[in-house]
Amino acid sequence: MQGAEPILSLKAVRKMFGQHAAVDSIDLDIAEGEFFTIVGPSGSGKTTMLRMLAGMDTPTSGDILLKGARINDVPANKRPTCMVFQSLALFPHRTVGQNIEFPLKIRGEAPEKRKARALQLMDLLRLPQSHYAKNVMKCSGGERQRVALARALAYDPQILFFDEPLSAIDYKLRKTLEKELKDIHRETKKTFVYITHSLEEAMVMSDRIGVMRAGKLVQVGTPQEIYTTPNTRFVSEFVGDVNVMPVSLDSGGMLHAKGFGARFKPPNLPQGFREGHLVIRPEYIRFLSAAPEADNALPGRVYNEYALGSRIQYQVRVGDSVFLVEKLRQQPFSGQLDDEVFIGWDAADAILVTD
Ligand code: ATP
Repeated sequence: MQGAEPILSLKAVRKMFGQHAAVDSIDLDIAEGEFFTIVGPSGSGKTTMLRMLAGMDTPTSGDILLKGARINDVPANKRPTCMVFQSLALFPHRTVGQNIEFPLKIRGEAPEKRKARALQLMDLLRLPQSHYAKNVMKCSGGERQRVALARALAYDPQILFFDEPLSAIDYKLRKTLEKELKDIHRETKKTFVYITHSLEEAMVMSDRIGVMRAGKLVQVGTPQEIYTTPNTRFVSEFVGDVNVMPVSLDSGGMLHAKGFGARFKPPNLPQGFREGHLVIRPEYIRFLSAAPEADNALPGRVYNEYALGSRIQYQVRVGDSVFLVEKLRQQPFSGQLDDEVFIGWDAADAILVTD
């Protein structure tokens, strides 16, 4: 993939609605075969971006290139791409087989060939072949989602676009389908471009993630990069529970934490850093038996605990602030609620962000 021409390129792409830039000067390259996910809160411009990529809308300015050719004005049905919708858009009175075969039928393929391909896609999507003649409305939500994906794959598109396809599905099934989708991506080797407001979903499936905020792409990176080195406070908080403290660099090279009357040893300093926020993930904070056991420490009181499946999260009050500390369930905090404790972290386990 490295060095090859990107399958999709955005050059300063902007979409205005009146005075409002829903998508604002986005530059992005997506590699062939990549699973790229765009995440962002509601209203950040994800749908607008995807609609332009899929040819359902045109940019106000900028260019969209498919393998180097400008496709700004090429309509959706003339592009070698296909959209998989959340609303499914299946033909309700048709069978599973008829739905999957639809793209093959309009292409004029013979019935036996269509059926063979539909059964092959059903296998790929783990749909029992006995469902071939079943009315699609008699299928479960998860099965219908698989039929929709099988139909999209029957078009044999170069790129599949996904518009929050799993958002209406219950948690357990969604978790299963996320993994299946990643498997299908591996098996088909197609380019997947996916939008979701759930970073957790993006983390599970994607090769790379682009985080959107107010029409701008604020960070692009692998799930690991987005998680461990968010470039702004916004991205760090979007990833999940974090501890965030406003800090400034003092003349002795230490971080002065406003509101705590404390000085901390800093992690790597971003170039030119003077002030910003120190971000520490709950799993990097430890309970200490004595303050010097970590580079940085604060005294606090254990206020509450929450079971999070394989982990337990503790709320520790430090002055008027609350810190979140997470431990693995098999290695819980050995004390009790209301205990006076020291919590601490090593400098290298924190991140400094300027925004
Ligand atoms: P959600 O997660 O809620 O679907 P989103 O990130 O997909 O949100 P968009 O639907 O792309 O966001 O909307 C981005 C911004 O553009 C919003 O402020 C929205 O109100 C505005 N917008 C979207 N479509 C139109 C339109 N057709 N006319 C005017 N404004 C629009």
